[in-house]
Amino acid sequence: MQKLLLHICCGPCGTPVMPNLKSEFGVTGFYYNPNIFPETEFAQRLDSTQKVAGFNGIKLIVPSQSRDDYFTYIGETKKKPERCLLCYKQRLVQTAEYAKGNGFDCFSTTLLLSPFQFHEDLKRIGEEIGAEHEIRFHYQDFRPLYRESREISKDLDLYLQKYCGCKFSRKRK
Ligand code: SF4
Repeated sequence: MQKLLLHICCGPCGTPVMPNLKSEFGVTGFYYNPNIFPETEFAQRLDSTQKVAGFNGIKLIVPSQSRDDYFTYIGETKKKPERCLLCYKQRLVQTAEYAKGNGFDCFSTTLLLSPFQFHEDLKRIGEEIGAEHEIRFHYQDFRPLYRESREISKDLDLYLQKYCGCKFSRKRK
């Protein structure tokens, strides 16, 4: 069975994606989301991710990260969609680098579940990063599972966030 490193943005998005991938891969979770603001929100999403990883028997890696990493990375790029494309890139580069350096065969992301993300750009960026880092990006369109993810999350009483994650998206909630 191939080893897949799964970037996880939050517990709710992981609910259907983790069991789906587990049938095909040996899955390890990777919680790298320096975009999530403020720190209390980051902690709530991490908590829900830990719960869902626990239910699924999946090991979760939480690398060192800070909100400053995100602000430094996006620089003056404050508008959508450019800001979001950098946000995807930062998170997926970290995931690919960790996967490549730690014996994984491929990597993927729960961001592919959300109908609110720029899905085709996300796919392209994942594949470009995979090519650059010589590790396969596992693309799968998880969006048909989005509704199920909300239902499972309510059943599990998971924290459901009301905005995408960064300081800019929080202002518009
Ligand atoms: S809106 Fe979401 S994807 Fe876009 S920069 Fe903010 S957290 Fe990242």
